[in-house]
Amino acid sequence: MGEPGQVRGGVVDAHCHAASRRFIPRSFVDGGIRNIVAMHEALGVPAHRERLVDRAMENLEDHDCDELVRQMDEAGIEWTVLLLPDFTYCLRDCELTIAEMFELHGRILERHAGRFQVMAGVDPRWGQDALVLFERGLKEYGFRGLKLYPPCGYRADDRLLYPFYELCAEWNVPVLLHMGPTASNLSFEDARPGFVDEPARLFPAVNFILAHAATAYVDECAMLCAFRPNVYADVSGFQEGSRNPGGQGLSHLLRFGPAHKLLFGTDWPVFREDARQAGHLELFLGTAREVLAGPSLKLVMRENAVRLFLPRGPRPSRPDLTGSAGWAGLPK
Ligand SMILES: [Zn+2]
Repeated sequence: MGEPGQVRGGVVDAHCHAASRRFIPRSFVDGGIRNIVAMHEALGVPAHRERLVDRAMENLEDHDCDELVRQMDEAGIEWTVLLLPDFTYCLRDCELTIAEMFELHGRILERHAGRFQVMAGVDPRWGQDALVLFERGLKEYGFRGLKLYPPCGYRADDRLLYPFYELCAEWNVPVLLHMGPTASNLSFEDARPGFVDEPARLFPAVNFILAHAATAYVDECAMLCAFRPNVYADVSGFQEGSRNPGGQGLSHLLRFGPAHKLLFGTDWPVFREDARQAGHLELFLGTAREVLAGPSLKLVMRENAVRLFLPRGPRPSRPDLTGSAGWAGLPK
């Protein structure tokens, strides 16, 4: 358990998840693996779907994020934003209730003081219970934002979400929305950036972050970032070769999206089999350094996240993370 000052990297990873099956249900993992099975079958390779799902689930045992912190230390990542999607409304095989998942994320914050911020997920169709729970997350656990997962079957402009956006305005915390395709048993069409336009206009005090903008609707995300003062985007998922061949989506986003709106993110644990966090950071910097000058790179690697997540709401219960580590230590 390190204090932020012990890590000199200064990088912020703005998009990760706790690698634990307590928060990620089997049906979600299975929905992703069906595409691998389809590919194997096409290639005439025997595909064992259940076995692949078993193996993926066995990898989801970092319940307290200790392994993630080890890899952050190794990579020079000072702090990370943990996103907790609420799958409990649409996927009914979750191990825990969303309230239990909130509590466990509160404990992760305590265990690794200064190393995480949490954006908490609630499915708006849980109604008033979800609103009460989300506010408790902000007040009692010190969470710093709302994570929405439209592929579960709702859109960013759904009126059910407006009370949540009002709460985010009151607490001065951002909203992050998954964009584009995901597990094959969920809806893709609901997760389009266009649905964020109206809430971004109606809630100018709330910052909206479009996730996976280097691989899904890259031009639309860059356009919204350029013209809506309160719309941001993260690059998580840039490692996925099929949707970002040769880093093209990423370099396109970095060229056309304004640097003061873009956030570095790895989407741990999705790509943990491919490389350690240090490797993903290097991969990103390889492309980013070709496109961005030093000051712009600093914005993307750290400063935009500090502006968005710096505790400034009423009764901030998390330690102040600014000024604890210099930019100078960013791995070369
Ligand atoms: Zn993610």
